[in-house]
Amino acid sequence: MNVGILAVQGAFIEHEQMLSRLGASCFEIRQKSDLSQSMDGLIIPGGESTVQGKLLRDLGLFVPLKEKIEAGLPVFGTCAGLLLLAKQIENDERRHFATMDIVAVRNAYGRQLGSFSAEAEFDGLGTVPMTFIRAPYIGSVGEAVQVLAVAGDRIVAAKQGSQLVTAFHPELCDDTRVHRYFLDMIRTNQA
Ligand code: GLN
Repeated sequence: MNVGILAVQGAFIEHEQMLSRLGASCFEIRQKSDLSQSMDGLIIPGGESTVQGKLLRDLGLFVPLKEKIEAGLPVFGTCAGLLLLAKQIENDERRHFATMDIVAVRNAYGRQLGSFSAEAEFDGLGTVPMTFIRAPYIGSVGEAVQVLAVAGDRIVAAKQGSQLVTAFHPELCDDTRVHRYFLDMIRTNQA
């Protein structure tokens, strides 16, 4: 299994470390030529969705990656990655891949609560630790979307087919279960 990690901006190294702890191989996607190798899954890290969205377009990565996601490539977006996958962002006119039927709310917790930790139930995994950094949340989901976690009345993780998003950063915790969950999605996709 070989997982591509978008590495143009943000917290991509932590995802690489997580995958190596789980024994999965991965590679960084920085430019178009990186897409020539075989890719079984894609991780879009946290960072700044506006910056990542611009760099994706400037580097010519936007269209090929969007096509792969639309063709069913398993994708995992954390935080800014969630915003890049959202069909709509309630308080931002920008749209990026827009492949997932969710309405996200950007920088949703205000300045005071910019960063915080919580614990909440994640579907099938039990209680998982969650680190939020200027995080979005999911305001509403379409019919095809399965809600996986709710923290403080807000949807913070969801799945639609082979697309997984979390508003929090599982790569910044010691707990590998959410990444394992994504690797299981890739295995199911390959079966
Ligand atoms: N606030 C960032 C954005 O709007 C997301 C924060 C994060 O990825 N930690 O893109």
